[in-house]
Amino acid sequence: MEREQKEFRELTSSEEARRMIKNIKVNPKIETLLLEHVNGCILAEDVFSSIDVPAFDRSVKDGFAVRAQDTYNATEIEPLALVKIGSIAAGCVPDLALGPGEAIEIATGAPIPEGADAVVMVEHTSTEADKILVRRAVYINENIMRTGADIMKGERVLRRNVRIGPREIGVLASTGISKVAVKQLKVGIISTGDELVQPGSQLYSGKIYDANSYAIAASVEECGAKPMIYGIVKDDERTMSDVIDRALQECSMVLTSGSTSAGVGDVMYRIIDEKGKTLLHGISIKPGKPVVIGVVEDIPLIGLPGNPTSALSIFNEFIAPLIYDSLETDPPFRTKVRAILGTGIRSEGRKELFPVGLIRGRVYPADKTSGAITTLAEADGIIEISEETEYLEPGKPVDVTLFGNIAPVDVMVVGGQCPGIDLLEDLTGMNFRVISMGSSRGLSAMAGSIADVAGVNLAGTGDYNLEAIRNMSIRNAVLVKGYRREQGLIVRPESSIKNLEDLIGKKLVNRNRGSGTRALLDKLLEELAVKKGTTRAELVKMVPGYNSGSRTHRSVCEAVSNGKAEVGFGIRPFAESMGLKFIPITVEDFDFLINKEIMDIPQVRKLLATLRSHDFATRLPSGIFTYERTGEILEKI
Ligand code: AMP
Ligand code: MG
Repeated sequence: MEREQKEFRELTSSEEARRMIKNIKVNPKIETLLLEHVNGCILAEDVFSSIDVPAFDRSVKDGFAVRAQDTYNATEIEPLALVKIGSIAAGCVPDLALGPGEAIEIATGAPIPEGADAVVMVEHTSTEADKILVRRAVYINENIMRTGADIMKGERVLRRNVRIGPREIGVLASTGISKVAVKQLKVGIISTGDELVQPGSQLYSGKIYDANSYAIAASVEECGAKPMIYGIVKDDERTMSDVIDRALQECSMVLTSGSTSAGVGDVMYRIIDEKGKTLLHGISIKPGKPVVIGVVEDIPLIGLPGNPTSALSIFNEFIAPLIYDSLETDPPFRTKVRAILGTGIRSEGRKELFPVGLIRGRVYPADKTSGAITTLAEADGIIEISEETEYLEPGKPVDVTLFGNIAPVDVMVVGGQCPGIDLLEDLTGMNFRVISMGSSRGLSAMAGSIADVAGVNLAGTGDYNLEAIRNMSIRNAVLVKGYRREQGLIVRPESSIKNLEDLIGKKLVNRNRGSGTRALLDKLLEELAVKKGTTRAELVKMVPGYNSGSRTHRSVCEAVSNGKAEVGFGIRPFAESMGLKFIPITVEDFDFLINKEIMDIPQVRKLLATLRSHDFATRLPSGIFTYERTGEILEKI
């Protein structure tokens, strides 16, 4: 059967895929648009100026139009008097001519009068009745911009294929042009999947938001093409086919996402094959394997993978070059940067587009949750790993293909989630990459030298945090004491729960394993168990929901608020902001483990100064507060 056969066809190598794509020609349409609509567009023709800019000799200063030779003897000590015979404002036609020994007051941008050949700045003059005193000599043409000095009539001011930005728009406007011909390459974008819902609408269970339509549209726009979003199409071959037909009618290129893997209902390659010619389906590159490239009557119809990180990776590697080629232009910003691997990366001997984060010129893997959108939130781009490579050594230079025009990250903060970290980011004005994955995993990231800073709240039997750090034998870091946080029970206002003992029999929403807050609750339950002459294991059997694992403080509060649980355990701020009751149980230390090697870099100095600042102390939300140890550095840990 045709259908099965296709799945066994060979994958195309990425080199071969690039060659095939190079051979595809897309012809953009040419459209004449008003200046207000051309930002980011590619200019379709050379533009020549039909006027001189400026169109007349003009003054570039406020002052007096003079004959330069009349000022040659003027000095600070012996100023020279000239007779002021009038004044010229910007936008006027001068009706005066200047004779020897005369001066005419002139504004910036005003036309130079007949007879004048220089302008003395007002700062170098003083006025006495109808005379002015010139205290400095000027040379011929001083402070005058001659006709055509900026742009000459007939000059080519913009070249075909330039990307139009603010500067280009300014140039066009100043030569009097209100419309230009630009290349219009309409790219249709279609997301497929029964599980997708549009951002802004309600997320019913089992659904996810459509990320691809928007991420791909933005990428298309960055390339200088025009994205046309067709929205979400259900996993129904007929409907997909119809929407694709419509997009093929209206666009010069069509990109779909999803339905390209060989699973049940993944039908994109069949649709593409039926409509036109399939050039390839599947590139032997991870994660791009499921990608279909076809052409329908000269219009490329491309099925991208559904996973958003994969879709963007494939777009950047294979589709963006096709758009640039078609528009005959180049990327508007650096799409590749060279950087140093901050940690070793293992590969599986297959060609791979590996998502990475870029922090101060160093590259870190952003691949820990393969298939999840969070990869996208943490990745700045990808590196390509060849099939021969099994391990990339730390310190090795690599080329990162960026996901768009990204802002560089100053500090990578991992570990426990806390609004105090957000406040630090706001007050330092720096760009943090915050990866909240719990205190324990923050410690692992530090042990593996993957993070700059880990926010930790791990109660031990002795010193807060120190014990856990010692157990992990972290040697490359110092511990900076942070602030204190009230931890307590979170219940709805009408709840009868008053203390830890009341937890028994109540539905709890617990935090994820590895979070310091969960570990703290465990410690408290341990103490309670001892008091009751039982064990924690026995005790928690009586707490339904104990095994749940909400990832954030906020999600705990949400579960309590919407009745999914009766009680949660966490910090005060979110509970209060959501109108819940907070029952304080204990106070803990939230500290920062910082990579020793970067203690002296400006970013970390700034972070520490901010942590110790009055501003920080006063702006912390309720239930979180600095104390005498805030900012204290423990070198030996
Ligand atoms: P598929 O190839 O359709 O099986 O999709 C692969 C994975 O990507 C699935 O987990 C989909 O839920 C996910 N996915 C597909 N399309 C989108 C989209 N537009 N936005 C976010 N995730 C998507
Ligand atoms: Mg799908």
